[in-house]
Amino acid sequence: MQKSSGYMSFYSKHSKMKELLPKIDDIKSNSVVAIREELPTIIKQIACEDLSNSVKTANLELVEQVKINCDETRSFAQVALQAKTLPPGVSPSFRPPSSKPEGVLLIKPKDDTARNHEFNWKLFVEILQNNNPEVRLRGIGKIYGGGIKLIAASLDEIQAIKEVFMEKCDKEVLEKYDFVVPNRKPPHIILYNVDKDVDQNALKNGLLSKNITLADGNNKPHFQVDFSIPARNSKYNHWVLSVNPKKYNEFIAKEGFYFQFNRLRLKEFVSPRQCRKCFAFGHTTKNCDPKSEQRCDRCGDVRGKKHRCRGPYCINCAESNKKFRTNYRTEHSCLDPNCKSLNKQKDLIRQRTDYGN
Ligand SMILES: [Zn+2]
Ligand SMILES: [Zn+2]
Ligand SMILES: [Zn+2]
Repeated sequence: MQKSSGYMSFYSKHSKMKELLPKIDDIKSNSVVAIREELPTIIKQIACEDLSNSVKTANLELVEQVKINCDETRSFAQVALQAKTLPPGVSPSFRPPSSKPEGVLLIKPKDDTARNHEFNWKLFVEILQNNNPEVRLRGIGKIYGGGIKLIAASLDEIQAIKEVFMEKCDKEVLEKYDFVVPNRKPPHIILYNVDKDVDQNALKNGLLSKNITLADGNNKPHFQVDFSIPARNSKYNHWVLSVNPKKYNEFIAKEGFYFQFNRLRLKEFVSPRQCRKCFAFGHTTKNCDPKSEQRCDRCGDVRGKKHRCRGPYCINCAESNKKFRTNYRTEHSCLDPNCKSLNKQKDLIRQRTDYGN
């Protein structure tokens, strides 16, 4: 995927090199291969567009639920205490779904001498406890490479926590770790039914020539064309664009862009990663646990020789009910576009997206 320079320079102008690291990871993980793997889910979601109204209703319900849960932020002591009672290797996630942007701080060891999760966890928990015990966190998690992740209710709160570390950590500690508040991602929109012969560049230029609001005063585009998805009608592709956060609401309100002699319909695009082997969220087939077996997308059972499908049963919603005491219906396939677990994942993506607020 080529990132066109104009838009990206807009987006990363203020990033320090360190803060670019998660972004690079993200570009890697969004590689064509990963996208290809996710295509069936994406296509399914788009193909079921007729259902989008009920999805919308479900989303609204979720948002309402979220508003109620929003003040669920725990004190640092509560989080630290609960984390201690968990079995080793379990990353606790106390994040209530929310449409407000939360703040995340990643503490990453710079070299191999500091990659022990437990040690790092204890070290930074103690520093916070000793210096600012009233600090409020939504969760502490482990990240790949031995680092830890702190989640607070807002960017301001996480910045304040970062400052505590900057001020109170010993010099050797500051030298051994990177403290990164990752940039939120730009929002994405999908443009429906673009002629198959139109390529990335033709789409970009065609959009710019017909829609004055798509570029700034210096002709820098407010968007970047990312990738295409085959449409149900084989004459067309849908295209996914990332857009300038400050322009997102304006574009969504337009509901379409002019292109050639048509108006292309557009919508928000949020597509959680879902494994095609175990059907869990958050990873792709490529990164699935090698021990896990291919499951049936209808009933969720292992699809071995003896498999006799017992009909729709969503293992993600069932697990959520068990783990988080949610009350989701389970009589649907784990690929159902109305699945509440899927909608929760979408909401988490929205939380990490910069909508210019
Ligand atoms: Zn998997
Ligand atoms: Zn089955
Ligand atoms: Zn479900």
